[in-house]
Amino acid sequence: MCGIVGFVGHREAAEFLLSGLSKLEYRGYDSAGIAVFSDRIRTIKTKGRLADLRAKVEAEGGISGCLGIGHTRWATHGAPNDINSHPHSSMSGRITVVHNGIIENYLELRAELEAAGIRFTSDTDTEVVSQLFDFYYDDCGKDMVETLKKVLVRLRGSYALGILSTDYPDRLLAVRKDSPLIIGLGEGENYIASDIPAVLESTSDYYLLNDNEIAVLTAESITILDAQTYAPVTRDIYHVTWDISAAEKGGYDYFMMKEIHEQPEALRNCVGSRLTEEGIRLDDITFSEEQMKNLNRIHIIACGSAWHAGIVGKYVIEELARVPVEVDLASEFRYRNPILSPNDLCILISQSGETADTMAALREAKRQGIHTLAVVNAVGSSLARESDDVLYTMAGPEIAVATTKGYMTQLGVLYLIGLYFGAARGTLKPETAAKLSKDLYALPDQVRTLIEQDEVYQAIAAEHAAKEHAFVIGRGVDYAASMEGSLKMKEISYIHSEAYAAGELKHGTISLIEPGTLVIAVATQDTLYEKLLSNAKEVKARGAYVLAIVKEGCTSIEAVADKVIYIPTTDDLLAAALTVVPMQLIAYYIAIERGCDVDKPRNLAKSVTVE
Ligand code: GLU
Repeated sequence: MCGIVGFVGHREAAEFLLSGLSKLEYRGYDSAGIAVFSDRIRTIKTKGRLADLRAKVEAEGGISGCLGIGHTRWATHGAPNDINSHPHSSMSGRITVVHNGIIENYLELRAELEAAGIRFTSDTDTEVVSQLFDFYYDDCGKDMVETLKKVLVRLRGSYALGILSTDYPDRLLAVRKDSPLIIGLGEGENYIASDIPAVLESTSDYYLLNDNEIAVLTAESITILDAQTYAPVTRDIYHVTWDISAAEKGGYDYFMMKEIHEQPEALRNCVGSRLTEEGIRLDDITFSEEQMKNLNRIHIIACGSAWHAGIVGKYVIEELARVPVEVDLASEFRYRNPILSPNDLCILISQSGETADTMAALREAKRQGIHTLAVVNAVGSSLARESDDVLYTMAGPEIAVATTKGYMTQLGVLYLIGLYFGAARGTLKPETAAKLSKDLYALPDQVRTLIEQDEVYQAIAAEHAAKEHAFVIGRGVDYAASMEGSLKMKEISYIHSEAYAAGELKHGTISLIEPGTLVIAVATQDTLYEKLLSNAKEVKARGAYVLAIVKEGCTSIEAVADKVIYIPTTDDLLAAALTVVPMQLIAYYIAIERGCDVDKPRNLAKSVTVE
């Protein structure tokens, strides 16, 4: 999720690695480490900041050698501590790796290797890579490429890997899948990095690696092997003319845009390893089947966008698991003397895991002896540590204040909870579960398709950027998604926007509709489509500009709407993950049109650690 740097050349690697990692600091991390090869591979790593790593390297008298790999970790599996920091070596010490991403099947692989007598030292998913590599190494005649080919067949998930072997003091191996990794071309030296800023001071020339291509780097050569045939391929040089700040954002103007584009990958990471042939696997949950069966009520507690995700969760969990779900704002829950009963469950949602109000709500639930489940992005955060159970959203670090991939992956986890509880409680037919799982698996690619229709959103934004008011209307899940779409508009483009349950509009607020008022009508729920069509007509009749977001094929809305955005077909319950995407991008482009600072909206902070 965070940063990798690798160096092979004729000068000291350590300084290059430390300075390269410092250029990746903006991505957020909780620990860091380097491994350098001289007569052997030496690894120094630590929880904390790069300054701590630098101090540790100095305290150990430096670390000399011209080949090395470095890593900043943003923990996904295992607490952020010294041992779980990267690089990770195999039991024999021959193989050392750095890894960004998630090995989805690490539990299976670990069990297999442990049964063969291999001892693990960390809690990470990553360690299976170094151990598995070592396990196959001798059979492959100690050939690194042959070994890596065998390892890749076994790995599921996302990875960018840098690999060293004690048998090869002159080379570095790299491979990637669904995690970024680039190769930098130097003079008498070469580099790998998860992002261009890490090596921009040394080169402007790069090779971009495709999924599952293997790269072998020495000081004088770079060989890239085809992902299928493993025959050497030639690659054009990618020459970069950006400055450092553009490079940090991967060429995007703002982190928010970068993170919008990271949503498919984040959602895949979130649901990929938990959707299995045998059903939903939530390994880390201690809440038993018995407890699920006896559930009285679920309380979802959160703030801001996480609260909006929670409202989607209410529709999903009630439908699939047939248990009443209440959704509370954390700041209200803690002060309203909530009525909880022993067979209740509290689900607390927070991207940072440090939200003060959500923490206070957690403590209130615990004080009353209620089982607590945290849905959190930041591993090892306070909420994750203090809750009885935790499900990580695996979105990777989010820098922009307005959440996008954080919210998206919260939805992912709530969908999984609905399916998991529904199966345990026997309220979900196996056919329905199978269909929903299939649709959930397809969601990341559908999100990508929507993101790609960039010009559509830009054109809409250009037309409406000068407006002062907007409404977003929907029913059911669409209403829940409307709240998040509306918040995006308010947060970053400062347009006053209201989300309304479509049926509620005529009970007052319709009086605010004037000629030209932007009304986004979200209408993806099959049973409610006709009703939404009528609501759209009501506002249209009062002069509103209607922008409809509907499922593919619902063309009858074109008779009412001024503009229609079609989302790919999915189950009604999952639609929020798709409808929110156009709304994020329209809000983004309106903010750009209005000259707002998208990443740092006025008066807002990323992690709200005060009441
Ligand atoms: N999943 C790995 C871990 O938790 C890698 C995390 C990262 O990409 O920084 O250690």
